[in-house]
Parts: sequence; structure tokens; C-alpha cells
Amino acid sequence: MTVLSDLEIARVAHMEPIGEVAARAGIEPEFLEFYGNDVAKISLEAAEAHENRPRAKYVVVTAITPTPLGEGKTTTAVGIAQGLEKIGRHSMLALRQPSMGPTFGIKGGAAGAGYSQVLPMEKLNLHLTGDFHSITAAHNLLAAMIDNHLHQGNELDIEPHSISWRRVVDINDRALRNVIVGLGSRIDGVPRETGFDITAASEVGVILSLATSLKDLRSRLGRIVIGYNRAKQPVTAEDLHAAGSMTVILRDALKPNLLQTTENTPVLVHTGPFGNIATGNSSVVADQIGITSADYLLTEAGFGSDMGAERFFNVKCRVSGLHPDAAVMVVTIRALKTHSGRYKVVPGKPLPEGMTLDNPDDVWAGAPNLRKHIEIVRNFGVTPVVALNLFPGDHDDEIDVVRQIAEECGAHFAASSHVVDGGDGATDLARAVVAACEEPTRFRYTYHLESPLAAKIESVATRVYGADGIDVAPAAAKELAHFEELGYGHFPVVMAKTHLSLSHDPALKGAPTGWRLPVREVRAAVGAGYVYAICGDMRTMPGLGKHPAAERIDIDENGETVGLF
Ligand code: ADP
Ligand code: MG
Repeated sequence: MTVLSDLEIARVAHMEPIGEVAARAGIEPEFLEFYGNDVAKISLEAAEAHENRPRAKYVVVTAITPTPLGEGKTTTAVGIAQGLEKIGRHSMLALRQPSMGPTFGIKGGAAGAGYSQVLPMEKLNLHLTGDFHSITAAHNLLAAMIDNHLHQGNELDIEPHSISWRRVVDINDRALRNVIVGLGSRIDGVPRETGFDITAASEVGVILSLATSLKDLRSRLGRIVIGYNRAKQPVTAEDLHAAGSMTVILRDALKPNLLQTTENTPVLVHTGPFGNIATGNSSVVADQIGITSADYLLTEAGFGSDMGAERFFNVKCRVSGLHPDAAVMVVTIRALKTHSGRYKVVPGKPLPEGMTLDNPDDVWAGAPNLRKHIEIVRNFGVTPVVALNLFPGDHDDEIDVVRQIAEECGAHFAASSHVVDGGDGATDLARAVVAACEEPTRFRYTYHLESPLAAKIESVATRVYGADGIDVAPAAAKELAHFEELGYGHFPVVMAKTHLSLSHDPALKGAPTGWRLPVREVRAAVGAGYVYAICGDMRTMPGLGKHPAAERIDIDENGETVGLF
């Protein structure tokens, strides 16, 4: 049982000066920009300078369909990195930066848990080196330049109702979902309806995560489409002369941040695009730096394998040119029991009573979800490792059921107690990862880029999610045809859907069959370089709950932060 809170463990953990952590990863001081003693940014020249070094095995960390609580991908990724060091292999970890919205909302921080955390956890969960603020500023500069353009006479003849570029802020604030800007007198701008999204949903954030260089960042920002003119032609950030300034705002944010785990293994933390409507993966440049700095590079893809990992394979790997050697599938007993359909997990409330009892039947009943996720990873030609993230109170015979399910599927398996034991609790899992990486991979995408957009959406729905087909709303079908005309037909696709089910309906647990995926609306993220299909209700600005985490976070009499977890 964990006696100390995550924050207490983090506070007493011994941190090495970050320059030493970098040195162990083979990253020389000339590539480091220090932000205090515990955090440094790494310049992109490091990737070029190390190009000829041996390449790490590349492992993506994903999960089965999670409960709303999260099943521990971050903490398990940290545990594996620590475990690999314990068995004599060097590891590097690449994680997303947490958004402050969830930190102060329901989920709490995202620095891992217990003895498998990323340090310094307070900085990580708050501003870190200000990358999210830079994204917010660059995004909102473009918004300001759009409204100014309308005010100054609208030379580009922008159709105001077609403007899809909203504003962003990194706080869960439902009151900003819909706003009217430009109220007041004539000198106060042109009134129009718009709204705010959370910064993690910003296309600028996705662009930062997919950019391969400063130059590539500049051209992607220029390609952002903010809306249309009256001749129905796209208007871009380049047309508004905004992309140069946006790049300047983002130039430091393009550099990955180096932190360390509670056992001083190196961690790259960089970018944090939303997992439901965006790519949900950390940056390409972090992985490009990480791939030459260890024996194993572990990278976390948000939510389940149908979400973050599918985009990791079909979108991020195409951009980076890196192909994974294995995929870790994080599983918890609580999530498998939820997939029995017998229990409902509600954030902020204790787990349903029956769920904590010893009941292997419930675990068996949830097995179809795990089997399906193993199949998803295998369809990409990647070897799965089932990682059971142990919680205090998990029962031995239930643990054994997970082992049996994994074995029946022919997947590597290990249970891991890293949260309580740190790297020592993850050595079996680390060995399973090493073994999986020795197997040959035949990496393949779900679809060819040359296929029509609708066919690509259908491939993901049927071949990844297990749908019988897709039902595209008439307006969405028209828009897809329009996108093909505009030259976006070769883009990969991202499906904006719930992460709580393999389907679009969060209530459908397990591995649903006999359903079709409704595509309500489609949008193009032209700068990021993909088309996204909106399936079901998708929120781009979360709200706060009745008692958000923000109510419990404070400083104590010694000036220490309390309540962050
Ligand atoms: P993910 O990255 O999949 O969203 P996290 O690693 O952030 O998951 O973990 C989700 C939540 O569950 C966190 O609050 C974390 O502290 C908690 N958690 C994860 N694993 C364990 C564990 N083995 N024991 C106790 N709490 C855990
Ligand atoms: Mg995580």
C-alpha cells in the first residue's frame, strides 16, 4: 500500500542535476538550455549531431479502453523505463506535457504515480517551461489578426461566418465555449460569434507535435486554414501574414524538455495534443532526439490503442519515419471489470462496491476488450506486451485471469508493481519488453494515403474499431468532396470520438459488434496535415465539476504545494 501521497514521494525523491541526466543519455552540454537545476530544453541540433549513433528500440505505450480514471500508461511507461535500467539497459521516455485544465479539473496531474513518477512533478503539472503558454499566445495572435483584418476593411474578403479559428485558454472554462467578440462601439472591432477551446485542442499544439524542424513548423503554421473568402477559397495564416510571428513565439517551445523519473532515468516531455480530437501523442522531435539516446525509447500514446496508438501508427509514424518494435498494452483489473458491463466508474466517487471484491468472473467478462486491443496492435504488424498495472487490493486469482487471457492470445505478459516498488517492481515487465523487441515486426498502416478520405475513415472504423461500416451525414459527405477538390485528399484521417468505448458510444463496453460509426461532421486541420471526422458529441472545451481538484490545491504553512496529485 502506498502510504505517502504522490506529491510527498516526489518531494523527498532525490533529483540529479539535469545536466548529469543528459550526460548519461549522451546529450552534450552544448545542446542544453537550462531552466533551473531540474529542467533543460534540448536544441534540435542534437538529433542531427547524433544521427549516426545506434538507434534505440522504439516502444509505444498504449492501453485497453480506459475508465475515466486512466489506467496508468504514464506511470507504467515510467516503471518500464526504471525497470529497464534495473536490468542493465538504458532507457529514454517520451511523454506528453499535461494540460492544466485536467490538473485543476477531475483527473489531477499526469506525472505518473507513487514511485514511478516524473520529477519535478509540480513544474510538470503546471507551467513547465511555458510551452503551453506559447501555444496559447501563438494561437490567439492569429485570432487577433483575423478580427483585426475584419476591422481594417477585410481586404481578403473573408466570410465572417466561415471563420473556424477560435481562441484557446489552458483552463477548463465552459462559460467560454460560445462568446461574442467585438462588442462596443465602431472602434472596438466587428461583432461576431466565436468561442474558446482548451489549449490542448489547439491546432498549433498539434503542429508543434508533428513539426520536424523549425522550417517545417513555419510552413505548417502558414498552411493553417482559418476560414473561407466569399469565393469559397480557403484563407490561410500565411495570407494574413501571421505565420512568421507565430513561429517566433514558438521557437523555444519546439525544443523538447528534459526531466527525470523518481529513479533519475531521463524523460523527454513535449507537447500535449488532445487525445480525442487531435493526435494525442508527444512530439516527433522528442522521439527523434530520444531514438539515439538510449537502448530503448518508450513513447506514450493517449487513451486506448484505438485512439492514441492508431494515430501514432497512421499519422505520427508517417511524419517521423520511425517504426515501433513493440507496443505495451496497459491493463488494469478495474478497467477489465468495467468492460464486463456490470459496473460504472464515476470520477470523484469510490469504485462501485462489488468491483473491489475477488471476482475472476468479472475479469473474464471484460476479456473481449483486451483481446480486441491486442488484435488492433497486431494488425499494425507490431508485437504486443500486456502490462498489468497492479493496484493495491488486486486479487491473485484475478491477476492470473489476465495472464491467461494474454497467453491465450499469444502475447507477452507481465504484472508490474512499479507504483509501489519503482523499477524493482517492473523488472519482469522490462524483460517482457526486451523479449518482444527481439521479435521481427512487419509494420504496416491501416490505409494508403492515396485512398479517398471516406475510404480511409471507413478503414479505421472497420479494421481498427470493429464497426460494420460508416454512416456519413450528407453535409459531411459534401465537405469531404470539397476537401478532395481543395487538395486535402491525401491527408491521413483522425477520428474524433470518445475514448471510453471502441465505438462512438461511451456506454458500449467490451468489444462491441454489429454497429456502424456515424460521421456527423468533418474538418480539416490543414497545417497539422490531417482531416478529422467527428463521431458523436465531442467537447473541445471541458467544464469543471462541482468540486474540481482546484478546490483542494493550496500552499501549506511552509510554502509547499499541497493537493496536486
Ligand atoms: P494514463 O497515463 O493512462 O492516463 P496515469 O498513469 O496518469 O494513466 O494514471 C491514472 C491515474 O491512476 C493517476 O491518478 C494515477 O495516480 C493512478 N494510478 C495509476 N496506476 C496506479 C497504481 N498502480 N496504483 C495506484 N494508483 C495508480
Ligand atoms: Mg498519461
